[in-house]
Amino acid sequence: MTNTAKDQNYLRLISEASKILSSQLELAPSLNKISQFIVLNLADCCAIDLIDENKNIQLTSSASKDPKQVKIVPKSHFFQVSRVLKTGQAKFVPRMIIVPLVTKGETIGALTLINSSRSRQFSRHDLTTAEELAVRIALDVTNARIYHHLEQAIKARDKFISIASHELKTPLTTLKSFSQILLRRFPDKGELVSYLSKMENQLDRLNSLVASLLDVSCIQSGKLELQKEKFDLQNLLLEQIEDLQAISPLHKIVLEKAIAAPVFADKYRLSQVLTNLISNAIKYSPKADKIIVSLTGGRNFITVAIQDFGIGIAQKNFKKIFEPFYQVNNTIRKSFSGLGLGLHICHEIIQRHQGEIWVKSIKGEGSVFSFKLPRAYFKRSMRARVPPFESLARLR
Ligand code: ADP
Repeated sequence: MTNTAKDQNYLRLISEASKILSSQLELAPSLNKISQFIVLNLADCCAIDLIDENKNIQLTSSASKDPKQVKIVPKSHFFQVSRVLKTGQAKFVPRMIIVPLVTKGETIGALTLINSSRSRQFSRHDLTTAEELAVRIALDVTNARIYHHLEQAIKARDKFISIASHELKTPLTTLKSFSQILLRRFPDKGELVSYLSKMENQLDRLNSLVASLLDVSCIQSGKLELQKEKFDLQNLLLEQIEDLQAISPLHKIVLEKAIAAPVFADKYRLSQVLTNLISNAIKYSPKADKIIVSLTGGRNFITVAIQDFGIGIAQKNFKKIFEPFYQVNNTIRKSFSGLGLGLHICHEIIQRHQGEIWVKSIKGEGSVFSFKLPRAYFKRSMRARVPPFESLARLR
């Protein structure tokens, strides 16, 4: 082979190897693929040894052209590799190359190439190629290990959230029952009732925070299950508006448009979405006094929109606010409490209904949160029981 041909071959090998290594995040399949590739292009046999967490050398991947003829002999291989790992120096003999895998100055393993027949001997050029491959393999191992640690950390976080929220729920429920007993027993003790009511409010807040944590841990572990039934979303919307209006005297919640909206969905989860969006509209518009809700639809979809005239959201945050624990970071924001989970939970619920949720907003002027769901078709008897105009009149 001419030098130019050798160089071209070298560049091709390195570029293809880089592609193989970057195509996967899991370590074992990635190393197996690269071993196979080396056997196809460079040697009769290839082995990758890594030093594990307990500082032991582990043969992590190996491949041979002809497994009958070429084998890694464990004892002698271990001996040769441990010498390279100790010295950090490559071993080069005509039928064997062992190069250390080094990342950030630390030797984390070795790459071994073997040729079986005397007629096929390694050249200095092959050593350079092996060294270059070793750099890429070492980087791949480091990335895969970081990825693995991240996965473990996320799992540990989710487990903590799940256990903590379950454990918090029990004492909270007990506290809430006792405060209700006290309220019922001493209904005419003015001051006591006032303190107990305040305590009830705080318990409700704690309960809803814990419920959000539980929901998020269900979402993360893919266990958020839907109990779907046929119902009219208009009825549910009217109920939610009525309930929220009762506890939010400073805002008037106006239902501007409404239509019959048959859906096949999880009632509890959709009421959670409506409560979340309307409560946010109220919470983030402390200086306004009106929230406008509308329920419209086409042939296949039903759309709910909730508009407020509050602090608004900058366009760069439109997507991010649906991520878990994301809260818009501005100085005004600091005066609002919350965990940054509500919208993420809404997003997951709507997505699991094959729907879509989005926001349009102008900072300082207000926001419109909308979601759409597939329309269901069912018999007349199941349609909305409350006629829209009667309900509208009742709410205004
Ligand atoms: P939380 O309200 O508990 O912080 P959410 O997930 O409900 O969590 O909302 C995420 C973030 O999106 C909020 O922290 C807030 O910055 C922003 N946000 C949500 N709804 C509105 C709204 N109607 N107007 C302005 N900002 C909003």
